[in-house]
Amino acid sequence: MDKFSIILSIIALLTQVELHVHLDGAGRPETLFELLREKKLPLPGNGTFREFKRAVQVQDPKDLMHFLSGFRHFAPAFG
Ligand SMILES: [Zn+2]
Repeated sequence: MDKFSIILSIIALLTQVELHVHLDGAGRPETLFELLREKKLPLPGNGTFREFKRAVQVQDPKDLMHFLSGFRHFAPAFG
């Protein structure tokens, strides 16, 4: 392997990054709500967008479990 190939191999290794998206915060509440409705999946509360938004947007989370509590409402939309 010549020097150029070695350098390219090193650069290729250095430029690898892991790109991923966290589901929390990745979807607009409006979009998630529409997906759940289209898929006829359960909605929290009385089924209105207002109640959905209130259930999934955790304000001032006490701990990780509290922060993740909204997932159960919107995660099925991604399935
Ligand atoms: Zn991450």
